[in-house]
Amino acid sequence: MDNTLIENALKTVKYPGFSRDIVSFGLIKGIENDAGRVRVKIAISTNDVQVPALIKREVEETVRAVPGVTAVDVLIAVSRPQTQPPPGQQAQVENMRDVRYCIAVASGKGGVGKSTVTANLAVAIDRVLRQRGNTRGVGVMDCDIYGPSIPLMLGVNVQPEVTGDMLEPVENLGIKVMSMGLLVDDNTPIVWRGPMIMKTIQQFAMNVNWGVLEILVIDLPPGTGDAQLSLAQTVPLDGALIITTPQTAAVNVARRGARMFEKVNVPLLGVVENMSYLQTPDGKKQYLFGKGGGELTARDLDTALLAHIPIDQEIREGGDHGIPIVIGNPKSPASEAFITLAEKVIAALEAKCE
Ligand code: ADP
Repeated sequence: MDNTLIENALKTVKYPGFSRDIVSFGLIKGIENDAGRVRVKIAISTNDVQVPALIKREVEETVRAVPGVTAVDVLIAVSRPQTQPPPGQQAQVENMRDVRYCIAVASGKGGVGKSTVTANLAVAIDRVLRQRGNTRGVGVMDCDIYGPSIPLMLGVNVQPEVTGDMLEPVENLGIKVMSMGLLVDDNTPIVWRGPMIMKTIQQFAMNVNWGVLEILVIDLPPGTGDAQLSLAQTVPLDGALIITTPQTAAVNVARRGARMFEKVNVPLLGVVENMSYLQTPDGKKQYLFGKGGGELTARDLDTALLAHIPIDQEIREGGDHGIPIVIGNPKSPASEAFITLAEKVIAALEAKCE
């Protein structure tokens, strides 16, 4: 009997609470088949004792139903997620050994300015750290493979070098960058399926020579829980930021994204409300997209609202030209909002990891 039948059957077993199956999550470490006596080896990273038990039971039932199978033995190796070791010394992924903190920037949906916030936050954090004499550096990992806009926003457009099987991040504005956008041609349509997203994110996490960094900021794909889960299983995340817009309608979506981090024990650092208002030349604020979405999201998620980022033409232009406003016009109110956000993020990480 062919192992493909067993593997196909395993593809119907979903990770508890997720729409994704255990094969595409990469949990299956081996299938042995001795004339119908099947042994499935699984490795899983979780703190939830119910998850391995549920998976074990469902794998047993599913494989037993495959024609030709006479006995099923399921071996599950359970490890604690890498978010559990003492914060600040977490990195167990070899290439992230010298990365002190790793944070994710997420949003429930696209177009809310997640990449814009990531790019500006990264340069703002770098600036604040340097002012404090900390030159360990900042990196950005762009996992938003549907629309990898970080290279454009940080002015990076060369193909990364490869050393052995490791990718070298590309550096600009003092920030180390790795993005799918650097690896595919502009004209290549990116049609990603779930399993490819996870493989890519895992590959990114494991195969980039990040070297020494104080903070690695990860731009996640919008929405879904699978990417977050996959990432949290691979990278030792110290926290997550949720980006939303002021429309209260956006809150539900943001909330769904945030719940995913709870499932994998990644603490929320807070909420950032982007496109909060437009300041007119007479100093008045116009709330083009309504008001209160950030506050509502933060309250709902029991976390802090860390920033209101205004709508500013210079933010958009800075993004399009690869010079984030924090560098292009550091004294503008928007830049000041990003700098304050950076200070709060650093403080939250340091407090959490004391
Ligand atoms: P996401 O990553 O959430 O899909 P982007 O960061 O790509 O969103 O932002 C979408 C567009 O909105 C970009 O053109 C960006 O320049 C613009 N944008 C984002 N935030 C602001 C802002 N606060 N003011 C002006 N333009 C913004």
